[in-house]
Amino acid sequence: MVPRTYRQLPQNSASLRARTHRDAARTSACRPAAWCIHHALATTYALHQAPGPTSLTTELSTSPDANRTPKRRKGTMDLHAFAARLPKCELHAHLAGSVPEPVVRGWLGTDNPSYAFRDFTGFLSQYGRVEQLVDTPDRVHEALAAMVDAWAADHVVHAEVRVGRATLARIGARRLADALDQAAADAAVQGVSLAWIYEFDGAAGLQAADHVVDAALDDPPQALRAVGLSGDESGPERYAQQFRQAASAGLALVPHAGTFPGTTHQIDVALHHGAVRIGHATSAARDPDTLRRLADRQVTVEMSPTSEVMIGAVPGPRQHPLETFLAAGVPVALCADDPALFRTTLTSEYLMAAEHCGQSAEALRALARQAARAALLDEPRRTSILDEIDSRSHTPRS
Ligand SMILES: [Zn+2]
Repeated sequence: MVPRTYRQLPQNSASLRARTHRDAARTSACRPAAWCIHHALATTYALHQAPGPTSLTTELSTSPDANRTPKRRKGTMDLHAFAARLPKCELHAHLAGSVPEPVVRGWLGTDNPSYAFRDFTGFLSQYGRVEQLVDTPDRVHEALAAMVDAWAADHVVHAEVRVGRATLARIGARRLADALDQAAADAAVQGVSLAWIYEFDGAAGLQAADHVVDAALDDPPQALRAVGLSGDESGPERYAQQFRQAASAGLALVPHAGTFPGTTHQIDVALHHGAVRIGHATSAARDPDTLRRLADRQVTVEMSPTSEVMIGAVPGPRQHPLETFLAAGVPVALCADDPALFRTTLTSEYLMAAEHCGQSAEALRALARQAARAALLDEPRRTSILDEIDSRSHTPRS
């Protein structure tokens, strides 16, 4: 999730100005049930600071007492190992939100934690700071090398990275494309295939969107597969021409849309433009007609449970609508969105689906298969990944 999305939320605007959850709780605009980003951030931040395993899923499954070491049952341990070893495809990761913290500390020349934040304002600040720091081809390469190391350790075998307009503008289309090509070649040596999604921010206007599409059409990296819309999701209709241009050049459309309650019309616009996947789309959970349209067209929804809880799109992990989407026949790919900033991993997202959304080990395998099916891959690579997923024959108790 690109932070600027939240600017469009009038329900949150007052609470976002508050600096802490305690402050926010004193404002009438902070609605504890469904809209309190501060609560989600403060709670999750506290959990992230707890000693013991770094898995958000594991930590969320325990008492909120941050000092308690989580106890895992045998079956849970098996499931943990199964999810960790499952070959996974990451279809929704923003470059600026995925740079491992030690890389940023190196750039800043400090040993101090760089990703510590306690509220939404702090999150915005961190995201923007990292985005500004990714300002040369060398830093793009360094960031991606560290990201690929993390993915390889997490058994992520394919990742599609979203690169925003700011990075394009700062580095230039040709130099950025060369850096991405080199990163993809290096990642392949580690067994991780990379693809790129160039995205424009809905808040930045038509000229900025044109810049992104021009770069995608005129100077793309070899593995550019798609164009996306992020940030302000409120007016996707404005970008019909940019979507048409990208699609006519053979690029897939993978916009964010319908993340927050009451925004299902954005999903319809995305479907109208021919989106092959949609980011988040959580507002469809309460709209059977939209769910049916997604299911009828078999458009995969990229769901990132940790992100969706932390940004307030859903009230909490146990209320995440993953099961609602799956029951309606909507294909879902689990993703991590901004894993470094949210201190999550793709395995943690799978475990969150298991522990809070009732998904069995076999359901996790099915989700991994769906992500591979929805990935923007050539068929031999897709087949290879699907075979690898199926070869994980050990099914733990769950
Ligand atoms: Zn996103």
